[in-house]
Amino acid sequence: MSTTWYPVLNYEKCKECGACFNKCKHGVYEMKGSMPVVVYPEGCVQGCHSCGNLCPTGAIEYVGDNNNNKCSGGSCCC
Ligand code: SF4
Ligand code: SF4
Repeated sequence: MSTTWYPVLNYEKCKECGACFNKCKHGVYEMKGSMPVVVYPEGCVQGCHSCGNLCPTGAIEYVGDNNNNKCSGGSCCC
C-alpha cells in the first residue's frame, strides 16, 4: 500500500469509459455517476501502472512516478 504513489486523473482528457475503475481491485476509485474519482489513494500499489496502461486517452498520471519505477508484482493488479 502506498501514499507516495497514486493516480491523478486529467478530466480534460477523461472519456468516462470506466476502464480504470473496472480494472482496479484495490478500492482506489469510485464512480461518481460516469466519472471515476480517486477516493482511496492509500490503496494504490507502488509502481502499478495498470489503470494508466488501460486508459485510452492517457488521462492517468501517477504521483511519485519518475519513470524509474517497476511493478513489484505480488498484490499489484497489472
Ligand atoms: S495503479 Fe494499479 S493499484 Fe493503483 S489505482 Fe491503478 S490499477 Fe489500482
Ligand atoms: S480509463 Fe481513462 S478515459 Fe477511462 S474513465 Fe479512466 S481516466 Fe477516464
